[in-house]
Amino acid sequence: MLTLAPEALAAIAAHAETTYPDECVGLLLGRLDEGRKTVLAVYQAENRWQGQVTLAETDDPTSRRDRFYLDPRDYLRADREAQARGLELVGVYHSHPDDAAVPSERDRVGAQAIGGPSFAFVIQSVRAGRAAELASWLLVAEGATFEQEEITPWP
Ligand SMILES: [Zn+2]
Repeated sequence: MLTLAPEALAAIAAHAETTYPDECVGLLLGRLDEGRKTVLAVYQAENRWQGQVTLAETDDPTSRRDRFYLDPRDYLRADREAQARGLELVGVYHSHPDDAAVPSERDRVGAQAIGGPSFAFVIQSVRAGRAAELASWLLVAEGATFEQEEITPWP
């Protein structure tokens, strides 16, 4: 289960709108308590996709419109920022420009390298430049598939 502070939700939406029509990517900072995650802040990373993973259906390998790459150095910077604030990394987010908030096969492959079993993969849909629906996913079955995670309202 995941809860997002209103400021975190607003920051994700704003980041996704700013990078549109490219995907944005960032990390979720918060608290983890018995599988319940509370996101209190976000770390805006840069989408450093440069064709790192090639899948068969790849059209333009350098496009960032339907893929992202999270640099491990950005991950470390976010982790340091979380620690400095007494928080931890509880997930990652990215946007889907003009597409549903459902992970792609490329997301599944990329997600193997990020986070642990309770790590949230939040997707913010952006339609015509405006933030739309948001969903959270967990990588399950040893990375074979994603399962949607319940998002509970901020108290
Ligand atoms: Zn994606």
